Amino acid sequence: MSPENSRVRVRIAPSPTGKLHLGTARTALFNFLFARHHNGDFLIRIEDTDKERSKKEYEHNIIDNLKWLGIESDDHIIHQSERGDIYKRYLEKLLNQNKAYYCYCTKEELEAEKEALITAGLPPKYNGRCASQKPQEAGDASSQLIRLRVPQKKIVVKDMIRGNVTFDSSLIGDIPIAKNLDTPLFHFAVVVDDFEMKISHVIRGEDHLTNTAKHILIGESLEFNIPHYAHLPLLLAPQGGKLSKRDLETSFDDFRNQGYLKEALINFIALLGWHPEKDREVMSLDELIEEFDIKRVQKGGAAINIEKLDWLNAHYIRNKSVDELVLCLKGFIPQEWFDKNGLLRGALELQKDRLKKLSLAKENLGFFFELEEYEPELLIWKDNSEKETLDSLKKILDLVEDSFEKSFEKIVELAEKEGRGDIYWPLRVALSGLKNSPPPIEIMKVLGEEESIIRTRKAIKKLQ
Ligand code: GLU
Repeated sequence: MSPENSRVRVRIAPSPTGKLHLGTARTALFNFLFARHHNGDFLIRIEDTDKERSKKEYEHNIIDNLKWLGIESDDHIIHQSERGDIYKRYLEKLLNQNKAYYCYCTKEELEAEKEALITAGLPPKYNGRCASQKPQEAGDASSQLIRLRVPQKKIVVKDMIRGNVTFDSSLIGDIPIAKNLDTPLFHFAVVVDDFEMKISHVIRGEDHLTNTAKHILIGESLEFNIPHYAHLPLLLAPQGGKLSKRDLETSFDDFRNQGYLKEALINFIALLGWHPEKDREVMSLDELIEEFDIKRVQKGGAAINIEKLDWLNAHYIRNKSVDELVLCLKGFIPQEWFDKNGLLRGALELQKDRLKKLSLAKENLGFFFELEEYEPELLIWKDNSEKETLDSLKKILDLVEDSFEKSFEKIVELAEKEGRGDIYWPLRVALSGLKNSPPPIEIMKVLGEEESIIRTRKAIKKLQ
């Protein structure tokens, strides 16, 4: 099978034991890009066999966040918890063919043996004690596990990213595949599902590489077609080391709540371990689909560089129209601001080039809606006196009160005559209450005549 001559079908198989996080989002995106690039199918399978740890709310969180990114399953979403009969059928087949057997060793016995092997510096694997059980004697209530008989052989994982990775089955031992006929274990369910779902390529994290050797053994025993495999590089902390607990617990919601746009997140995630030819950095989803080539995924770990995400986010915010941005800001700014549509749009027009994240909009746009208290001293430019500052503001006020429209030009003339700092500084502070803001005349245009006059008078009053 290769992407060229068989239908590409890929999947992600998250366990709903936590919210969506960056790792799963990356696996999802890479699978999705691969599927779209090859005109194939992208599927979602929920691995919810762990009844205690799996929660519907996590499942919804994963599916909804992926949907927000534009990543949706091309077919109905599969749940492992609903597929008991399928697993059972394949388990019975293996038992009937004597390719699997019931194991009666207790947890304690197995633990003790494992300890002993580790102490002796040997690989911890099952000693095969129950392998000679006759099938007809087996399956009673005292059985603990069903194991796959693993033949002695070399297993070659033909990884599309790493090339051939060879494993020795004698180090693996007979693999537990189910607790009983109704309770398959992870490795078994994955292999059966990938076959039943006609998955052509399994693309998942590098942490699954050793599992893949087991999956190939299970698949071969079941006489399945073995899918192609690709293992994505680990995600690393910004400095390059292991991800900290905090990094690992960062959920996708946290990124959304901080106001990263989906375009920025997709672009950022796509570059976590992959890069296009010519090292382009800013790419839309369509461009990513067009360019995505699994062979260009790197082997080494991919560091999470939040500065790059910030940079991409600022880029995408800058390139959005004010109309689009207003829609994106729902939930990030007070509801009343939306009622002052003209003010909001004007403020955004002026500030969007400085906006790194939507969560900063409240702070960046706030002064347009409400002037915060500030110290009168802030109005004073450099070594100017209070009196000089007051005079400047009075002159400005006269011009504004005379004709708001004409005052824009007149203030420029005044600043050229008296000194830019002497005029623009106090006006800036009067209008915004801030040291840093967009140019004061631009602020005036957005605030309008009435509010500009109120704020200038207020400044004058502070100095009197
Ligand atoms: N359920 C596994 C996980 O969440 C994924 C298994 C797979 O992709 O094959 O890590």
